[in-house]
Amino acid sequence: MTDVRPTPVATIERAVSIGREAGLRHVYAGNVSGGDDDTRCAGCGTTLIRRRGYAAVATTALAAGSCVSCGRSLAGVGLADFGASAPAATPQRGPGT
Ligand SMILES: [Zn+2]
Repeated sequence: MTDVRPTPVATIERAVSIGREAGLRHVYAGNVSGGDDDTRCAGCGTTLIRRRGYAAVATTALAAGSCVSCGRSLAGVGLADFGASAPAATPQRGPGT
């Protein structure tokens, strides 16, 4: 697919915005340099998963798949284990990332 141009960042950012406005809770622009890649709590906005490139790191605000700040569960397959046993700042691959 070398003949296909990359999707413009503005188009990706617009898609993220549309998703959030439609009520999707965990939309992020993956693989966009300098983009908004983090997963934030849908309840309080706390950053739960930081992404840089292909690396995903659970923050200390994510424990057993829930936000430590407000207790809201983060929806997603396998997220109950994400951040449950690993210390903060330990790179993990998140499901679906
Ligand atoms: Zn929260």
